[in-house]
Amino acid sequence: MEDVVIGIDFGGTTIKFGLVTRTGHIKRQWSIATPAKTAPETVMAEIVQEIKRRVSSAEHLLGVGLGIPGSVRPDTLAVYDCNNLGWNKDTDILALLQKGLDIPLVIENDANAATIGEKWQDSTSKDNLMYVTLGTGVGAGIVLNDQLVHGFAGAAGELGHVIVDPKGFKCTCGNRGCLETVSSATGIVRLYQKESGQDEVSITAKEIFDQAKQNSPLALNVVDQACDYLGLALANVANVLNLEEIIIGGGVAAAGEFLRARVERAVDKYLYFSAQNHITIKLASLGNDAGILGMAKLVLQKVNK
Ligand SMILES: [Zn+2]
Repeated sequence: MEDVVIGIDFGGTTIKFGLVTRTGHIKRQWSIATPAKTAPETVMAEIVQEIKRRVSSAEHLLGVGLGIPGSVRPDTLAVYDCNNLGWNKDTDILALLQKGLDIPLVIENDANAATIGEKWQDSTSKDNLMYVTLGTGVGAGIVLNDQLVHGFAGAAGELGHVIVDPKGFKCTCGNRGCLETVSSATGIVRLYQKESGQDEVSITAKEIFDQAKQNSPLALNVVDQACDYLGLALANVANVLNLEEIIIGGGVAAAGEFLRARVERAVDKYLYFSAQNHITIKLASLGNDAGILGMAKLVLQKVNK
């Protein structure tokens, strides 16, 4: 029998599953649509069914890891703040999974999971790093001395709500000028609408980057602003934590070196003693598989203890 684990990336639109070997090879992966506004009991029962259906009799399932778009309380492991899923109160998802699965289970915030996935698959990665995901919002996972940082309520890494312009755009959290109002995919579009003077203009962040690469002055201005705000937030965090490496992932990172070089320039501009505190800014290498692999790695760490 071959030892395997299952890593799950529970997103707002799809739930992605990966059956992963001990060495980090994804043997099979599949996804199901995230049921809209469904009670946690129903979704977890569906996940249990998927797992039971997909593991063959020649495979020994060691455990399952679930990455979720919300925070996990370190003491009770209850999940909260899953706004995309419509679950706002503390929910004991682990107990729901345990009803159908009598094996080791791990639950973790999705950005933290992606952080561990990237770190596992990159033999050159450092022990003091931050992984940043630029998508609809901005999330981050922080590793210090080779350990994930959770904070007292499990909400560490809320980089998206670091304020970069107190007089800026209103954020969904109630504050103004949070990083994700300007440097997420939606934030970049909002900056473009402001700079173009057309509030209703329909464009995507990818199209803005494409135009910037073609030297459109308007798009270049917007991309430069978004990268400067991002570099400001990253440098501030790096100053506090003395980070060695920042990894940029998420959909916006598809803009590649064009994005990375600008963020690096901005970080260098704002970083304290940048010459002494050299920090590497790099692009994520795993794309959509980072969350699955990170959860698989966390399960392997748990069962190997
Ligand atoms: Zn905010």
